[in-house]
This record gives sequence, C-alpha cells and structure tokens, in this order.
Amino acid sequence: MVTKTFPLSPERLQEVVKQFPTPFHIYDEHQIRENIRNLQKAFAWAPEFREHFAVKATPNPRIVEILREEGAGTDCSSLPELLISDAAGVKGEKIMLTSNDTPADEFQAAIRLGAIINLDDISHIEYLEKNAGLPKVLSFRYNPGNLVEGNDIIGKPTEAKYGLTRDQIFEAYKIAIDKGVKRFGLHTMVISSELRTEGFIYTARLMFELAAEIKKRLGITFEFVNLGGGIGIPYRPEQDPVDLEAVGAGIHKLYDEIMVPAGLGNTAIAMESGRAMTGPAGWLVSTVLHEKKTYKDYIGLDSCMANLMRPAMYGAYHHITISGKENEPCDHVYDVTGSLCENNDKFAIDRKLPKIDIGDLLIIHDTGAHGHAMGFNYNGKLWSAEILLREDGSVELIRRAETIDDYFATLRYPGSPLEHTFYNK
Ligand SMILES: *Cc1c(COP(=O)(O)O)cnc(C)c1O
Repeated sequence: MVTKTFPLSPERLQEVVKQFPTPFHIYDEHQIRENIRNLQKAFAWAPEFREHFAVKATPNPRIVEILREEGAGTDCSSLPELLISDAAGVKGEKIMLTSNDTPADEFQAAIRLGAIINLDDISHIEYLEKNAGLPKVLSFRYNPGNLVEGNDIIGKPTEAKYGLTRDQIFEAYKIAIDKGVKRFGLHTMVISSELRTEGFIYTARLMFELAAEIKKRLGITFEFVNLGGGIGIPYRPEQDPVDLEAVGAGIHKLYDEIMVPAGLGNTAIAMESGRAMTGPAGWLVSTVLHEKKTYKDYIGLDSCMANLMRPAMYGAYHHITISGKENEPCDHVYDVTGSLCENNDKFAIDRKLPKIDIGDLLIIHDTGAHGHAMGFNYNGKLWSAEILLREDGSVELIRRAETIDDYFATLRYPGSPLEHTFYNK
C-alpha cells in the first residue's frame, strides 16, 4: 500500500496556478533527492555504485542537474540527451551512451564528450571505429535470448531488438581486445516496471555468471556490470514499492558468491534507473473545463494525452485526486478525458472520484517519468510547461509552455503562408 500525496496545499496550488497556467507537470526536488539516496543506500556495500539516470524519463537539464548533485551520471540514447547531460554538468565517463540503431553523429558526440559507449550490436564495433574511433571504455548490451525463454520475469528476449546474443558477446569482447580496447563494462536491460525483488536478483545472477565466464575465457576484468533500469513504481495505491533494501542485499549475496571468487571483486555495480528516480516525484496538474453527461459522465480537462500518453498507450493506471477534495468520498464515477480527436484520449475510465466541479484542479499522480517526455503535437496540441518545487518551497519554471509560434516555427520557410505571420503577443 502507498499513500498518494501531492506536495502543495490547495491554497498554495491556487497561487502557483495564477503564476503558471495549467496544464503543467510539477516535480518535487526533495522527493527526487530522496529517491536516488534510497537507491544508493541499497548498494552502499558495492566497491562502487553508479546510477546513470535514464535521461529519456525526464529530459530536463535542471532535473539532471539535481541528480548530478546527488552523484548520478546519465544514460543517453540520443544526441540531444548527450547534450542535455553535458549542459547539466555531467561529464566524461559519468555519461553512458546506450542507444540502438545508432547514427554516426551520436557516436561522434559520445567520443567527444569522453562518454562510456555501450554497443547494441557486434557490427557496431566496426561502424564505431570507422565513424568516430574507439572509446576508452567499451561495453556491450547482452540479450540472454532462449536461455531464459518462458521466464515471465524478464519477458521474451528473443523477441527484443536489443543486445547481442550469448555467442556474439564473447566474440565482441575478443574483437575489442584485438583492437586494443583495455577497459570494459557489461550491460543488460531486460526488465521494465518490475516491482518484485526476484526480478532484479534474477538479472544480477545472469550478469554475474556471464561476467565470470567472459573473464575465464578471455582474461578481461570489468570496471562495471550495469543491470539496466526497470525499477517499477507503485502506480496503484494498493501496490507496494520495490523493496530496495532486499534487492540490494540479494544482489550483494550473489556478488560475494559469484563475482568475488571469479576475481571480479572490484567491479562497480551500475544501474540506469529512470522511472523510479523521477516518476513518483511528478504530477500533471490540469483544470476541469467541462462536464458532459451522455451515456457516461465525462470530465473534460485542459490537458490531453499529448501531455501524458501512458494511459492511452499502455492502458496504464495513474492515480487521480482533486485538489481540496482529498478527504471527500469517492462516490461518483467518471471518464476523465482530454480534447484529442481520439476516443482513447482518456486518463481514466469508470474511475471513482469525489464529485467534480468545473474549475477544479485535477491532479494526475506519478507523471514525473515518461510523462512530459513522451509528449507529442498531434492535433496541434502544444507541450506544457514543467515546474520544479524547490526544497525551500519556492517554485521554478524549468521549461516554459510551447507557444503557437514555436509550433509554427518549422513551417516558416521563405515563401511559406506562415512566413511573416506571428500569433503570440
Ligand atoms: C528506458 C531505459 C532505461 C530506464 O528504464 P526505467 O524503466 O525508466 O528505469 C534504462 N536503460 C535503457 C537502455 C532504457 O532503454
């Protein structure tokens, strides 16, 4: 069980909304810091623990900066994410490039920044060498394939486009050694939104055993084993958060059992958690514009799935509360909708909520990761602002809302009907 809270009182939220009109995502700095500290605590036993925050979860340099202050690096999968890391003060090997189908300019930027490069395919060694040169630290992403077929913990790796097969991974390190690479890491990312301790333990065993076997066959050691992201969060109030202490202790035991005897007792543990760092520390705040009663009772917001795609895309549950009505009985049933011309533009279906009035401020919980980040412009919908609630209680605009002129900017070429037309004051 988790209690779903929102860090601003109804009165304070009213003040904030006067300054920054809805809809917006608001992030709680204090909670983000707590989240990463808890993760680090669970792995304090390791010779070194590295969290490379998955930038794609919340690609805002201010958020990355907060995590950097707590000791985190970044995990990037595109050129803009590499540049966001650099701008946020994340430098050199604190940055890890884990992309797939990677273009040359991304590899070049990673080399220029001194980032660790994690290759998704054996053919990328040559591509990387030819287009950017080889990095100081090279890592490969492992796809365990059939070895774990049918295991519901990590899904079906044979259907995943990511990573190298077991045979390829030995060959890849051999090629890298022959090309003169001296420093290595090992990576996988096979779980997503996992809440069960066993999921993480399973991944760790797989990776530690593989690291030990590579060492035995090829004689190399690893500077880190990266267990990927995938730490889930309790989106539903009846779910429990991941027991990070148990995960850390379970992985510690395996480390002592497998890594230490293999001569890999100096290897750092790395992770690329995104969701668990920022997800529960973000909320989408919207104003109720309409109530429509037809075959069902619809609440229409000033936001839509362009602001938060997860419910429509995955059928994902996001908890909803109404500011100021937290303690009222949930004795009404609503579909909570956005304005997109798509019938799946619903944040909730048949949701029990308190009686909602037009003008209410509706809070959608756990939107801090893969929320604003997954936005889009379909139907001419504009990206919302992002706001940071500082530890001292003040609020800071960390991304302004997109304007109509931003939206039209790419249409303003010479001779375009929009070339000389501007709409914003
Ligand atoms: C998405 C992703 C992550 C982060 O996943 P979370 O579920 O947000 O923790 C980490 N590593 C890679 C390679 C990813 O694609």
